[in-house]
Amino acid sequence: MKIIIFGPPGSGKGTQAKLMAKDLRIKHISTGDILREEIEKNSSVGKKIKKFIEKGELAPIDLNYIIKRIIPKNKYILDGYPRTLEQARFLDNYNPPDFVIVLDVPFHVLKARLLKRAKLEGRSDDTPDTIKERFKVYREQTQPLLKYYKNRAVIIEGDRSVDEIEEEVIDILKK
Ligand code: AMP
Repeated sequence: MKIIIFGPPGSGKGTQAKLMAKDLRIKHISTGDILREEIEKNSSVGKKIKKFIEKGELAPIDLNYIIKRIIPKNKYILDGYPRTLEQARFLDNYNPPDFVIVLDVPFHVLKARLLKRAKLEGRSDDTPDTIKERFKVYREQTQPLLKYYKNRAVIIEGDRSVDEIEEEVIDILKK
């Protein structure tokens, strides 16, 4: 099963992707985690992308190349990728997803969640200014993918408990 978990910042993509990976025993690939690790290591990629991530902009590197190197052939759960039409087209040519799970959460809930996460986890891209920029980038560059994937997308009401969402997602995938 090849799955994309898709949604705006704060929609719970990472949380659900981790649970799905455990439930279905499929590798979870988070481009955000990969990039944060590079920053942590202070690698050349990390140095190049740090400022962009902290501003809430997309990382100006070839994520397709990274995905191509690490993505398993028959099953995957992608979280945070693709984020642009160009990335989605690349993935479709290389190793297309079967399902696109879309987490639908109202804007005011997203904002409240991110501000709460800023306090709890101290992620450097969860400050009020950066959050604003991440929503802008989402609206302009990532949201158009909803139309692109419309025939493969399953929309899930994401303003519910983690357990309820997990149960619904697993039910859908097992059908
Ligand atoms: P995330 O953890 O998915 O919210 O990602 C955190 C940040 O990493 C994003 O705000 C982007 O700056 C960067 N990032 C993650 N995935 C991608 C991607 N597919 N393309 C470009 N930048 C990305």
